[in-house]
Amino acid sequence: MATKIQQILENDLPTLLNPLQGSLSEVDFNQCRHLSVIFVIKHKNMKHTHTVNYEIIDNWSELSTQEQELVVKAQEASANAYAPYSNFYVGASVLLETGIIITGNNQENIAYPSGLCAERVALFYTGANYPGVAVKTLVVVAKGDLVKTDECISPCGSCRQVIAQSEYRQKIPIRLILVAQNGRTFIFDKASDLLVFPFGMEA
Ligand SMILES: [Zn+2]
Repeated sequence: MATKIQQILENDLPTLLNPLQGSLSEVDFNQCRHLSVIFVIKHKNMKHTHTVNYEIIDNWSELSTQEQELVVKAQEASANAYAPYSNFYVGASVLLETGIIITGNNQENIAYPSGLCAERVALFYTGANYPGVAVKTLVVVAKGDLVKTDECISPCGSCRQVIAQSEYRQKIPIRLILVAQNGRTFIFDKASDLLVFPFGMEA
């Protein structure tokens, strides 16, 4: 168990909290069921504390039936990604409060900034077609030449901003589930925890 926690601290935390690189000064954690870990990040010279509470399970088959369906939908969506430049195939699925499932995948373009990530494709489609309907859960999967089989890909900074604003607008937390190819799964009860100081909103 100690080795697993050390692996999380040394390998996973910097990736999951990449907008914070260079500012991580102290880490505390508590163990709970399924190795639920609470990180407390204190910024130097600032009276601000940010807590990220997430859970790791060995395989997404331990999720509920509904969330397993979301994983399958995200995997199916990743197969349809347009990623000829990165060979990085990402799929996202969104569960709405009405039970409807929306999917998205990354859509690249020869003019690189013109492309869009899978998470934002799914969330923007949701906003365009189901305005005012809250997002309950977001699942992200990824595969490609540069993705290790045990690696959970976390949303980029731009997607974190969009996810955080979605939460802010709907006043309901979005459950974020990140699934690696070997089944390893990270679960965040509040997706906006991954962005410490969102633009335009209260931190
Ligand atoms: Zn992104």
